[in-house]
Amino acid sequence: MKKLGFGLMRLPLKVENDPKSIDYEQVCGMADTFLAHGFTYFDTAYMYHDGVSETAVKKVLVDRHPRESFSVTSKLPTMLLKAQDDQKRIFAEQLERTGAGYFDVYLLHNLGTENYAKAKKFKSFEFVSDLKRQGIVKKIGFSFHDRAAVLDEILTEHPEVDYVQLQINYLDWEDAGIQSRLCHETAVRHGKQIIVMEPVKGGSLVRVPRSVKELFAQAHPDWSLASWAIRFAAGLENVVMVLSGMSDLAQLTDNIQYMREFRPLGKEETELLREATRILSSAATIPCTGCRYCTEGCPAHIAIPEYFSLFNNEQLSNKGGYSLQKQYYNTYSKKFGAASACIGCGKCERACPQHLPVRELLKKVAAHYEG
Ligand code: SF4
Ligand code: SF4
Repeated sequence: MKKLGFGLMRLPLKVENDPKSIDYEQVCGMADTFLAHGFTYFDTAYMYHDGVSETAVKKVLVDRHPRESFSVTSKLPTMLLKAQDDQKRIFAEQLERTGAGYFDVYLLHNLGTENYAKAKKFKSFEFVSDLKRQGIVKKIGFSFHDRAAVLDEILTEHPEVDYVQLQINYLDWEDAGIQSRLCHETAVRHGKQIIVMEPVKGGSLVRVPRSVKELFAQAHPDWSLASWAIRFAAGLENVVMVLSGMSDLAQLTDNIQYMREFRPLGKEETELLREATRILSSAATIPCTGCRYCTEGCPAHIAIPEYFSLFNNEQLSNKGGYSLQKQYYNTYSKKFGAASACIGCGKCERACPQHLPVRELLKKVAAHYEG
């Protein structure tokens, strides 16, 4: 299977800011072009487009193309589960919305510490394994937003999964909060096939400063900014699919052109991505190096470098609206002390080789994520 997947979470709209107003005419044209070039993988979820993304699968694909000519992935919204029986009801609803008859891949959506606890409580892994046994889903797995240690725990306890879907892009690769590289290495160590989400970091890797654009343009004037990011993800070990949330035909045509005969990045091109990451990271608001000297003595067990990293990342990528960083922050602050839990003892500042005013900075982080 070709490594580019069509993510159905940022579809073109007829009415701006109305996620339900999908422009079906445009999406049909995009999906037809995608299929005509031999790409077959479509990714949706119960929650995308306020529930209408799954309906789009029916209108755009199921009603217009033979079922065996494309594959559909959907996800069980673990965050919405209140009782074990919710799973059956939601799955039935998803089959009805999509009209797909079965899902090629079915994932537990957005596992991390909290949702994993819920998945255990409601026996969600047993639920999806049973669907696989019945043949109503072909492959199972989960999408994931948390630390590599949590991923390791889940994969150790659930070796039965086929796929893990991870947030991977070149900017988050060494990020202390998102831990793309560590998560990737964990999944590889467990022998899992990897589906990549957010390879362009919600579009922020095409909104880079001029210096980064020039760096890329000097090497390959004909490559789009998105293509650098998607090529990076697609070339990683065990990555079988890279999702792109394509919002118009131009994006789709660009992606198709270089992913039709995918060639991984070479050594020099990978070095350019490192340089781009250095430039982007140097624009960071908090110059924390992630050395962790501050964390050991913190009586409030605050994940200081992780919070600073997420905060920096936010300044680079979030242009308003939904924030992935906030989602990570919420997960972290359930396991570690929240930024607002700082008691002001100052131990961290005495340990910090960068002499950062950690207490003041944590107030900023708390105001941003907890306010
Ligand atoms: S000042 Fe706050 S963050 Fe620093 S060690 Fe004390 S409690 Fe932890
Ligand atoms: S000691 Fe300073 S530079 Fe090192 S992780 Fe902590 S805040 Fe960042």
